[in-house]
This record gives sequence, C-alpha cells and structure tokens, in this order.
Amino acid sequence: MTYSFETLAIHAGQEPDPRTGAVIPPIYATSTYAQDGVGGTREGYEYSRTKNPTRLALEECLTALEGGRRGFAFASGMAAEDTLLRTVCQPGDHVVIPDDAYGGTFRLFSKVAARWGLSWTAARLSDVDSVRAAMTPQTKLVWCETPTNPLLSIADIPSLAAVAHERGARLVVDNTFASPYLQQPLTLGADVIVHSTTKYLGGHSDVVGGALIVTDPGLADEIAFHQNSMGAVAGPFDSWLTLRGTKTLAVRMERHCDNAERIAAYLTGHRSVSAVLYPGLPEHPGHEVAAKQMRRFGGMISFRHAGGRDAAVRVCNNAKLFTLAESLGGIESLIEHPGQMTHASAAGSPLEVPDDLVRLSVGIEHVDDLLADLDQALS
Ligand SMILES: *Cc1c(COP(=O)(O)O)cnc(C)c1O
Repeated sequence: MTYSFETLAIHAGQEPDPRTGAVIPPIYATSTYAQDGVGGTREGYEYSRTKNPTRLALEECLTALEGGRRGFAFASGMAAEDTLLRTVCQPGDHVVIPDDAYGGTFRLFSKVAARWGLSWTAARLSDVDSVRAAMTPQTKLVWCETPTNPLLSIADIPSLAAVAHERGARLVVDNTFASPYLQQPLTLGADVIVHSTTKYLGGHSDVVGGALIVTDPGLADEIAFHQNSMGAVAGPFDSWLTLRGTKTLAVRMERHCDNAERIAAYLTGHRSVSAVLYPGLPEHPGHEVAAKQMRRFGGMISFRHAGGRDAAVRVCNNAKLFTLAESLGGIESLIEHPGQMTHASAAGSPLEVPDDLVRLSVGIEHVDDLLADLDQALS
C-alpha cells in the first residue's frame, strides 16, 4: 500500500507506541538505554547521540515525505549543512554555490569551510551554462536552492542534476523554501536534500532544526557515521515539535500559497512597487520551470520599492500584522529588509541584494487582514 503525501505526513515512522498504544510518539528524554546483558541492546538503542526513538520517527517521516531512502535530523539547518560538507568534501575540493545563496550557507562556505581548504564559486543557477563553467575537476557538490532566498529565482533541478553528474559531482538541493509538499528534488535527480526544518516543516516558529535526506545507501552510511561522530543531532523535544508541525504541512502549504497568490497580485498593481518577485506570476523568468517541478509556488514573496532603500525600510517598520523579524515559514506573517537583516553578511560580496528589497513570509492568517496591513504600510 502506498500512501499519499498527506497520509505519510501524519503516519510515516509513527506507529502507535507498542507498550501503551500512545498514538503520538513519546518524547524519549533519555541519554542511554539499559542493555540485556553485555552487548544486548534492544533494537540497537545504545546511546541517544547515535539513535533516539523520537528523532528516528522524525527522520523516517521526513524520508518518506521527500521520497528518499534515509534521513537524518540535526540541531539546526546549519548543523545539517556542516555535517554534509565534512562527510563529502576534504581539503582541496571545490563546490559551486548559488549566487544568491541563503546568507548562512554563504557564510559557512566563505568564512568557515574556506579555512579548511574547501574552495567555492558562486554561479547563477538559473543559467546551466554558468554552472558548468564554474565547475572544476575538484568539484564535489553543486549546491542548489530553488526558489532562492531572497530573490525567488528558479533553477531547473533535472538539468542541474545532469550537469553535476556529467562531471562526477553530486547535486544538493536546499528544499527549505518549497518544502517537500511543493517539490521533491530526489525524484527529479538530486542526490541530497537539505532542510532547515525551522521553517515550513516545523511551521510554528517554535523550534530550530535541520535535516539531510538521501537515496544512495553508501552515502547514507557515511552521513550516519558523521552525524554520530560530530554529534549535532536534534534533541528529542525538538524532534517531537518538528514532527507535530509536519503533520499539518500539506494543509498549511495550501493556505500559504493561496494567501501569497493574492498578495502577489495586489503588489503587482501597486504604484509604489517597482517589481514583484514571485515564481507564480507568469512574467517571472522562472515561472515555466517552477510550474514543471513545483505543485504550487509557495508562500515567499519579495518586492522592490519604487522609492528606494529608505522607503523599503519604512514599509517594514510600518507593518503591524506582519511581524518585523528574520526567519520564515511559520503560520504568522513576517516582513523584513534582507539588505540589513538576513543578508547583511553578504554586503560587498557577489551575493549582495538590492537595498530597496522587502521580503515577505506570508502566513496563514485571513488574507484580507494581510492585504489591509500591507496597504497601510505602503501608504
Ligand atoms: C534558515 C535557512 C537555513 C539555515 O537553517 P537554520 O535552521 O537556521 O540553521 C538554510 N537554508 C535556508 C534556505 C534557510 O532559510
């Protein structure tokens, strides 16, 4: 029996507890497990850094939702990324990263991994030729975000997988913005999925976490070894909160998309807005590719203010229902100025973002209230 996404989100990895019948996986707040004689572990439970039932339930659920073979849950999205880098790369290797990568990912490559001898080149991922040109014989990973943050550009996942594989590299897709409900990159040829589960998967702005999901069993074993050796694992309570959020991912994403479509249409007609960046708009340069590989177009919108930087900052400050904050993907709507907030660390780099840009994480409140708030903030 193969279940659909909505059913897997609620049941995958989550059988009722065999002892009590508890329908929700308990928070196994334990560091260690009693053994039945020396070496006699129960189902391999030995120590919670290595294996914990609440974390395992989350890992199995995320694996099912991405259509992968094995998943790993971490203390944060950055911990997942760091573990992947150190699993797959060594000094002298090279990676291709998006020219508008998530700021923290750019910082990990440029300020941390670079010190350990890993070089990188930023490429425009919507242009497959520029990715091919950025690759070297040492390239181990092509790192993809689609849609990107904060410019919402779209990369063609099957084409990038082909380019990476041509040269013996692996394609990593950070699927945080789309979530597995809207896009399943492993089924399109990607080798590794990265998530900040802090965002749509958790969905309630109450937990920080990350995940890796893969199909290749050899790579899975190497990641398992590094997850245990480096130890940046998701704790049982964080795993439980993330699982609780994941159960409603499908219904939340539908409402995020409904609201974002209405807001993108409103902004498109507004005289203070010089550009709306939303892949659901037919005039978006990535619209056709997005329509092929995504179910819908997501809840993130960026727009450029015709009045420049100060006007963009004023909109962020004037919004009342949209909370001025970093992060994204929760039930509540957020607004921010990427140039001075999430992407401040990219200033002066090839990843610098326009200073008249405003980014919205559209929540699941009533859309009329959201539209009214934007209307007053823009006037
Ligand atoms: C937030 C985010 C990350 C980092 O995840 P944390 O959970 O904050 O460590 C990575 N990629 C994207 C696209 C993100 O939005």
